[in-house]
Amino acid sequence: MPDPSDPTAGPAGPARPAQAGGCAPHAPALPTAELHLHIEGTLEPELAFALARRNGVALPYASEDELRAAYSFTDLQSFLNLYYALMDVLRTEEDFAELAHAYLARARAQGVRHAEIFFDPQAHVARGVPIGTVIDGLARALDQAPEAYGITTRLIMCFLRDESAESALATFEAARPWLGRITAVGLDSAEVGNPPSKFREVFERARAAGLKCVAHAGEEGPPGYVWEALDILGVDRIDHGVRCLEDEALVARLVADQVPLTVCPLSNVRLRVYEDLADHPLPAMLAAGLRVCVNSDDPAYFGGYVGDNYTAVRDALGLDPTALRTLARNSFLAAFLDEETRAGYLAEVDAHAF
Ligand SMILES: [Zn+2]
Repeated sequence: MPDPSDPTAGPAGPARPAQAGGCAPHAPALPTAELHLHIEGTLEPELAFALARRNGVALPYASEDELRAAYSFTDLQSFLNLYYALMDVLRTEEDFAELAHAYLARARAQGVRHAEIFFDPQAHVARGVPIGTVIDGLARALDQAPEAYGITTRLIMCFLRDESAESALATFEAARPWLGRITAVGLDSAEVGNPPSKFREVFERARAAGLKCVAHAGEEGPPGYVWEALDILGVDRIDHGVRCLEDEALVARLVADQVPLTVCPLSNVRLRVYEDLADHPLPAMLAAGLRVCVNSDDPAYFGGYVGDNYTAVRDALGLDPTALRTLARNSFLAAFLDEETRAGYLAEVDAHAF
């Protein structure tokens, strides 16, 4: 149990300062919901080495600095290769709880008031870690989040789209005893060549079980994948979705239905979706009336947590307080919250002094 008075302290010991990306967070931070966050992508080198030592896992890096130097990606696949290799240090319920605690401590310092957290059960089950170990470990930390960090949370179970539809179905069935802990299902990993339509059946099953649905689409994949996520999977939100701008009719649809897009600016630059943050279309998306919000995706790998993302887009794209407030409001409008809680968070955003 971390010391709630120290927002950077996790049970694994003092965390590194929250401004991992080198950008100073807002002071005080703009209240926000984080809706696109892979818990495995919050594994910082320090915790990876600590867990590797504890679990007797050999890492192919001599030091934390050498590992951090490996975080130089050319595209989504090159990132995923390291991402899957490093998560091998996560073995026990306690490991998953520590991972979530470390994220929550950093998130609080960056303004997060509500977090909807992705996890990738197939990546763990394939290594021999039972799905219950993953969910129970994460849930143990998330149960403490309101009191320890002042953060409400939801858990979103993602299917790996580069695995088969049958594997996704088997994963969903294996998770049935824990569905009460899960708010939504999602779809992530290597996008190109793995269209949303491949997962029609498992999303139907999830909706029938009362779960919400989200999917990564339109990051590296074409606008057609966003259409499929909307019309075939029936998603409530699109994760990324930046390539929607290539399709006028799609933008019109997303605006008309106010479908949320969980945009991840620093991730997009690190994975070369855009060469430079100054080229990011976030201002154009706001101007088009799209319900966009800002998120960190895999912050340990992409150079910043959510507050760092806000600071980076403010500085690189010249976003004024009105735009920043809209982004923060959008995050809560897009969250899977009851209306009373949502209204409370929106009031916090409205009261924020820039
Ligand atoms: Zn993602």
